[in-house]
Amino acid sequence: MTTILWFRNDLRLDDHAAVHGALSRPSGVAPVFIWSPQEERSWPPGAASRWWLHHSLESLDAALRRRGSRLVLRQGRVEDELARLLAETGATRLVASRRFEPHASEIDDRLARSLMKRGVAFERLNTALLHDPEAVRTKSGGPFQVFTPFWRALEASLEVGEPLAAPRRLSAPKTWPASAALRDLGLLPAGDWAGGLREQWRPGERGAADRLEALRSAALAEYDSARDRPDEEGSSRLSPHLHFGEISARRVYRTVIESEAARGGEAPSRGALAFLRQLAWREFAHHLLHHFPRTPEAPLRRNFRRFPWRRSARDLRAWQHGRTGYPSVDAGMRQLWATGWMHNRTRMMVASFLVKDLLIDWRRGAEWFWDTLVDADLANNTLGWQWCAGCGADAAPYFRIFNPITQGRTFDPHGACVRRWVPELAALPDRWIHEPWAAPAAALAEAGVALGRTYPHPIVDHAEARHRALAAFAQVRQGDSS
Ligand SMILES: Cc1cc2nc3c(=O)[nH]c(=O)nc-3n(C[C@H](O)[C@H](O)[C@H](O)COP(=O)(O)OP(=O)(O)OC[C@H]3O[C@@H](n4cnc5c(N)ncnc54)[C@H](O)[C@@H]3O)c2cc1C
Repeated sequence: MTTILWFRNDLRLDDHAAVHGALSRPSGVAPVFIWSPQEERSWPPGAASRWWLHHSLESLDAALRRRGSRLVLRQGRVEDELARLLAETGATRLVASRRFEPHASEIDDRLARSLMKRGVAFERLNTALLHDPEAVRTKSGGPFQVFTPFWRALEASLEVGEPLAAPRRLSAPKTWPASAALRDLGLLPAGDWAGGLREQWRPGERGAADRLEALRSAALAEYDSARDRPDEEGSSRLSPHLHFGEISARRVYRTVIESEAARGGEAPSRGALAFLRQLAWREFAHHLLHHFPRTPEAPLRRNFRRFPWRRSARDLRAWQHGRTGYPSVDAGMRQLWATGWMHNRTRMMVASFLVKDLLIDWRRGAEWFWDTLVDADLANNTLGWQWCAGCGADAAPYFRIFNPITQGRTFDPHGACVRRWVPELAALPDRWIHEPWAAPAAALAEAGVALGRTYPHPIVDHAEARHRALAAFAQVRQGDSS
């Protein structure tokens, strides 16, 4: 008997309930991955995600080969490919991780029905989240829309068991089905723009485990104070690893709790609590996506459907390419382009700039992030953008408009991020680094900055843009949710 072990956004062997599920019966196991971007509806993986996926699949295949197995790659409609794989292997069982994106759940439900008719068992296990989005409910039985009560309810019921060890061996199926070559999936970019990604990241389980170890041994203690500073390496940078399932949220959670216990404190430190709270935002994002499946395309607050967004291809392009004339915004956008990642504080600031200073629809921002982030994640990205636009669950109030100058001064006080990512401003003194237009001519000349030539003038005046945004946002009243 053969079991098909279908890998998706769960590219690991450690703490993997589906891997253990597949191995729980004495059968051969055929691990497969199906590349099927056309079935992701409006959200096929973007260019940065594809780069990551290529390397992550390579790493998973190597891990399987060390255990006497291998990863079978296919491309096409998942239902067609799985039907072929079942026929080729004679398998009567399919085991996979549950996906929580609405389009993927629909495919899975359809698949489960058609497989049942053919006598094939389809087992779906939650390997991605700490909670089951159906199991956590408000007192009135509905889904949560506010983070703090969600987290309280989740914490009260949370039982994170001992993570499952990676198996030592996987028994091979009687016959191996044919596999596409990884390069034939065409995931790597045609031009070589991925140098910054290669420098910054190590996709795969090993890279994920190293990030977790760095968090445990060093960053956790300082996490509470450093997590909000884009100019410091204060956060874990686990996001792409969590998105691709190269590490489980359970493994991360347990490691933090156990490392706190080993420290001997009476209660978890502020750093640990602050970190677990961030991890819980990921749970909340998936909870929301599960219960409000239309939110990647439509605002959760209905009144925002009438919002008077501006259309300006020129301003959108300036934002995308880090040419807005606001150094802290431009530094973030250029870092995103070069490395596929941006700090959470910077994400909030650049998103606020797009939706409030430029009044451009949050969906245009979400699409750009989708293409350029290595951690692009439908649940987290949707929550982040709707939060910043003020149209989502537990969202920022409409009158909260980030000032890119004070944000820069507070969270990047010496302009380290600006100097790194906007090198044409690198020689400016700290005082002017976040507002070069206010610098005296002599300071600009000494730093080699010619505004309008070496670096753009601001594309909007923040004070005026703020008034314009307040007027537009006042049209849609807060509080009218779903
Ligand atoms: C506009 C916008 C878009 C975003 N898009 C994404 C996205 O596509 N993918 C993504 O993973 N995160 C997204 N985030 C959330 C957050 O910015 C990143 O998860 C975080 O910056 C990743 O860095 P880290 O791993 O060092 O985080 P850490 O601070 O170390 O946090 C640990 C983990 O918790 C989770 N997490 C942290 N903050 C959040 C949050 N606010 N919402 C949901 N989960 C969170 C992530 O999985 C993260 O890896 C977005 C935020 C905003 C404001």
